[in-house]
Amino acid sequence: MADKPLIIAIDGPAAAGKGTLARALADRLDFAHLDTGSLYRAVGVGVLEAGGDPANEEDAVKAAKTLKANITEKILQNPALRTHEAGSAASKVAQYDSVRAVLRELQTGFAQNPPNGKAGAVLDGRDIGTVICPDAPVKLFITASIEARADRRFKELQNKGEAATYGAVLEEMRARDARDSDRSVSPLRPADDAFILDTSDLDAEAAFEQALAYIESKISI
Ligand code: C5P
Repeated sequence: MADKPLIIAIDGPAAAGKGTLARALADRLDFAHLDTGSLYRAVGVGVLEAGGDPANEEDAVKAAKTLKANITEKILQNPALRTHEAGSAASKVAQYDSVRAVLRELQTGFAQNPPNGKAGAVLDGRDIGTVICPDAPVKLFITASIEARADRRFKELQNKGEAATYGAVLEEMRARDARDSDRSVSPLRPADDAFILDTSDLDAEAAFEQALAYIESKISI
């Protein structure tokens, strides 16, 4: 039987740099990558497109089931998922265990059987090390001060030409942190055995080097 895929679990709050890091690690290690936030974003956008309310559980579960039945790489790459509005809708649908259960199957399936026969997978999100892949041999928790994260998100939005002010982005980030950390199901928190990396004063390259050094200390790759 083939070896079990090697899983690298990456969690952390919005705009801490986990997506960039996860992609770079997957590239370097030739592992598959799943940005699990894009699943929640796709559900949030699905609800909005159907004229529903992301905070309504029935609307959210319906959109989650529709996504599960029709999921493709293209749906997850849709630029409409990257807007501020999509992120906010995602954090509303994410509070329901019924929604999380539907998406959990997609995520565990990916981890157990990474696409294209890859030997491992990098999954990034909020509850990968705690709920989705609690046995992952490597868990990273990527964080940064709320000011640093709001500043990054604000610059990203400016570069995309989206209208935003730093104050509004900071306020929305605070609301999203509270929703993600205070919810009763799968709240955002580091796994007990996670390596915590604060990127407030690190650029993407420095964060990558530190994460890779930690991974190399845990597993032979
Ligand atoms: O990481 P990203 O900003 O794309 O995630 C959008 C939202 O989806 C998060 O604020 C969070 O509420 C939710 N999410 C989650 N669990 C995950 C990934 C994302 O609850 N594993």
